[in-house]
Amino acid sequence: MKNLRDLSYEDLLAEVAELGEKPYRAEQLYGWIFHKNATEIDQMTDISKVLRERLKGEYYIKGIETLDVKTSPDGTRKFLSGLEDGCRIESVLIPEDDRLTLCVSSQAGCALGCQFCMTGMSGFVRNLRLSELTGQVFSAMSLLNEGERITNIVLMGMGEPLANYDNVVKFLKILSDGKGFNFSHNKITVSTAGLVPAIRKFGYDSKVNLAVSLNATTDEVRSRIMPINKKYPIDELLSALRAYPLHGKKYITIEYVLIKNVNDSIEDANRLIKILRGVECKINLIAFNPYPGTKFQRPEEQRVNYFHKIISDAGYVVIVRASKGREIQAACGQLKGAYDLEENAPGQ
Ligand code: SF4
Repeated sequence: MKNLRDLSYEDLLAEVAELGEKPYRAEQLYGWIFHKNATEIDQMTDISKVLRERLKGEYYIKGIETLDVKTSPDGTRKFLSGLEDGCRIESVLIPEDDRLTLCVSSQAGCALGCQFCMTGMSGFVRNLRLSELTGQVFSAMSLLNEGERITNIVLMGMGEPLANYDNVVKFLKILSDGKGFNFSHNKITVSTAGLVPAIRKFGYDSKVNLAVSLNATTDEVRSRIMPINKKYPIDELLSALRAYPLHGKKYITIEYVLIKNVNDSIEDANRLIKILRGVECKINLIAFNPYPGTKFQRPEEQRVNYFHKIISDAGYVVIVRASKGREIQAACGQLKGAYDLEENAPGQ
């Protein structure tokens, strides 16, 4: 038995061909699954009863189960979902001004082991399936208050999205498809810790916004806090970004989590200016959001502001992002506030 929510449009085309049905059946199924959020095959009333019975013999529809929701005083909602095999993942709804951003997890755990990240410290379990990626969007929709609408989607929760490449690319296609969730490319952002070969490919497989978690200005420091840097050092990463196709957008977002006495010196700020030359980018500075058990500390506000001033005076677009939902530890993965991306729309 296959879960219909694990199948992209192309997968459904192959399935209906296998069943000896016409290709338009794939479109019908796709619309019911991802646009109308059907939870039972019997809801698909424009499909004959005979075919529905046949489908029921081979397919089912299953999403994910919301186990817990925590709401922060600033309106941030973190929700915990249970998966079929007992894994648990987190997603977060973040309200800010006129935006409501959903931060989605792409893996259960993460293999990259970034030292400042709660997920990175707890190891890797597995890639999320397409049904579990789209399931987070359906779950978030069911938590919305009256009149609320998700405006932006960011893949910055648990996991490295580009390490779950095929499912993530399928998910992005469904998110931006008018017959799927119908979000604009400009409202979707994928954040990576810097898997260089995947970045080079991704620029041609998707048109969504790209954010890169840089967090250091020397290989020595970056390799210490982000072990992936030993494989793909800063130079290699930045040259992939210089070559990245922007699809009419103005920039890539560089995320820089400021950690006290690790990467927040004046020398770091000056080096950052230099190493980013030639990268069409906007910089998001995020003061580290400490969590229980971490060895790292948040820098003083004065230091954050000074760091910001140095970068800004050099002519970069740089924003200090708030860590939302501090009360509910909504600081997983790269979720640190880089949800301000719609000004990256073409022509702005
Ligand atoms: S910051 Fe992202 S890539 Fe790094 S360990 Fe955490 S989840 Fe993985």
